[in-house]
Amino acid sequence: MSWWLAARSIDHVVLERGEVANTWRTERWPSLTLLTPNWQSRLPGFGYEGDDPDGFRTLPETIAFLERYAGLVSPPLRTHCRVTSVRRAADGYEVATAQGTWQCKAVVLATGGFNHAQRPKLSEAVPSGIAQLTPVQYRNPGSLEPGGVLVVGAAATGAQLADEVQRSGRPVTLAVGEHVRASRTYRGKDMQWWMDATGLNDERYDEVENLTRARSLPSFQLAGYPDRRNIDLNALTSLGVKLVGRLAGIRDGKAQFSGSLRNVCELADLKLNRLLSRIDQWAAENGVSTVDPAHRPEPTRVEASPPLGLDFERAGIRTIVWATGFRPDYSWLEVPVLDPKGNIRHDGGVVSEAPGLYVLGLTFLRRRKSSLIDGVGDDARDLSAHLAAHLGETRLGKAAGRL
Ligand SMILES: Cc1cc2nc3c(=O)[nH]c(=O)nc-3n(C[C@H](O)[C@H](O)[C@H](O)COP(=O)(O)OP(=O)(O)OC[C@H]3O[C@@H](n4cnc5c(N)ncnc54)[C@H](O)[C@@H]3O)c2cc1C
Repeated sequence: MSWWLAARSIDHVVLERGEVANTWRTERWPSLTLLTPNWQSRLPGFGYEGDDPDGFRTLPETIAFLERYAGLVSPPLRTHCRVTSVRRAADGYEVATAQGTWQCKAVVLATGGFNHAQRPKLSEAVPSGIAQLTPVQYRNPGSLEPGGVLVVGAAATGAQLADEVQRSGRPVTLAVGEHVRASRTYRGKDMQWWMDATGLNDERYDEVENLTRARSLPSFQLAGYPDRRNIDLNALTSLGVKLVGRLAGIRDGKAQFSGSLRNVCELADLKLNRLLSRIDQWAAENGVSTVDPAHRPEPTRVEASPPLGLDFERAGIRTIVWATGFRPDYSWLEVPVLDPKGNIRHDGGVVSEAPGLYVLGLTFLRRRKSSLIDGVGDDARDLSAHLAAHLGETRLGKAAGRL
């Protein structure tokens, strides 16, 4: 956003509570690698120039990449400047920070969509002897209690952690609800290559049939490992991970699972096959030939009668990892624009109820790719145009008032 505001000669400041790339420095587990290939972290004025475009950045590489970008853009940046409140003021907004108060005509909330790892209410019923942690607290398998691990949630984070923990020798049980199955590669090309080339990642928020649903879908079951392996449920059960249904309750030291495991897996298979058919059709229409022919993955293997309950003690479960999603944090936002679920009401990032207020970096904000590093540039371009028009209107309004 700073790159685009500078390009439009709009005076601005960037306030950051930590250092550049703070989220990656402080809130992610050390072994995390980006699930998006190197070429797919395009930022305004900054493409990939290395010799491994199809590789995946490690956490230190991701931090270094964002530092390099900050060096290039050289934004008017204040680090260690936590915003403690944003409220309406006569001429725009008042932003209170640890380093003083700012008055401004417009505010862009670029504080991220994944600030808090969610822990469901039923976690309160977990027996006291079992350790519980979120992906933000998780470091590595060695830091877990010896014994079995229940990972709850099978989106990218849950599937990645199940893969890592099971490989370390600790037996993993994975509670699986609705999920989005994906293959790392298809017909010899990376899935993200297809999502990009077909235009699916560019699909706009005002084009999708059900935006609320699109915004709440779990992430692809993908990881960015050097061997490009899949981490779908078949890959995980091949390692020895045990699948159970969605965690529905905990009573008397026992977990209760939904009986929908087979259904959610069939649905995920169906949707993956539909996506692959769309890709095949696009490839045929655009004359894209690939080394590997079109094929369909083996359906997800689910045991005949998956267990509906599990006694934590008998099963040797010593740790639960809540990979049940992330939420943004707006505890400091004193402008009444949140819905009952705590989400900002916005139209593609424009907070219409509060002129001059914008939000960036949320899932499907303006495009399917909006919550990816690769997506922010286009969204920031669009929103900076709106913001410039807003400032123009503000100036015109003032001039009219003087006449
Ligand atoms: C586990 C996980 C894995 C992911 N993997 C990928 C991936 O492989 N590829 C990909 O493209 N995307 C990935 N993402 C999404 C990725 O997080 C976003 O693409 C990217 O971080 C969005 O950048 P952002 O600047 O909007 O938000 P963030 O990176 O979260 O940055 C927000 C910044 O705001 C600061 N901040 C927050 N509150 C305040 C405050 N009150 N005052 C001042 N500063 C504040 C934070 O310190 C932080 O630096 C992943 C997300 C998660 C949760």
